[in-house]
Amino acid sequence: DTASTRYRRVVLKLSGEMFGGGAVGVDPDVVSEVARQIAKAVTERGVQVAVVMGGGNFFRGAELQKRGMDRPRADYIGMLGTVMNCLALQDFLEKEGIDTRVQTAIHMAQVAEPYIPRRAIRHLEKGRVVIFGAGAGMPFFSTDTVAAQRALEIAADAVLMSKNGVDAVYTSDPRTNPDAEKLDTITFEESLRRGLKVVDAAAFSLCMENRLPMLVFGAEGDDILVRALGGERIGTLITS
Ligand code: UDP
Repeated sequence: DTASTRYRRVVLKLSGEMFGGGAVGVDPDVVSEVARQIAKAVTERGVQVAVVMGGGNFFRGAELQKRGMDRPRADYIGMLGTVMNCLALQDFLEKEGIDTRVQTAIHMAQVAEPYIPRRAIRHLEKGRVVIFGAGAGMPFFSTDTVAAQRALEIAADAVLMSKNGVDAVYTSDPRTNPDAEKLDTITFEESLRRGLKVVDAAAFSLCMENRLPMLVFGAEGDDILVRALGGERIGTLITS
């Protein structure tokens, strides 16, 4: 059966693709369901939750670059996209009765606080959900990497990576190999040795070097976020 851990504080990475519900923009039905689940985990399990928001439902720098744009500027567009997702999530979390703060790595005082890690920790200790937007504020990074970095900086117990289209780490690609087996747990070293790519290399190496556990799990399934935030071993847990 599935083992479980009790988290005190976690960083939850949500992909933009999930928020878009398969389209460009924000699907309010999806975001409200995400908010309901986060609220449930916060109130029923008492876990401190910081969210790192992706933005792939709006823009991805690499894709704009392929179509002729300058990469850093395209990446800034990508980062700005994540902030729209943050505000949508904030709105629905507050409708669930959860206090929230959005902190962005690019200053935009009318809509968000600047990223101040010690203040973020204080919010979390007061039961607020902190939503991190605008990635790292730096081109050439991904929000997966930012999730690992924020988790380290705010001393989270783990980083929980919700993925679109994959629900775990497999021995090989399950979309092309019918014999691929799902792994419940694996170490960072073993997954490197076997060449199993799950998150970007920078996120992976930050977690490995700093011994930060990473849960890789899907975006679909009843109460999937409640279960992940509650410490259930869905997906694959990668540890040192
Ligand atoms: N981005 C960036 N620096 C960061 C985080 C994000 O330049 O620190 C840009 C990058 O262009 C990326 C886009 O923002 O493609 C959206 O983020 P991401 O692709 O990680 O979102 P997700 O795939 O998780 O929805």
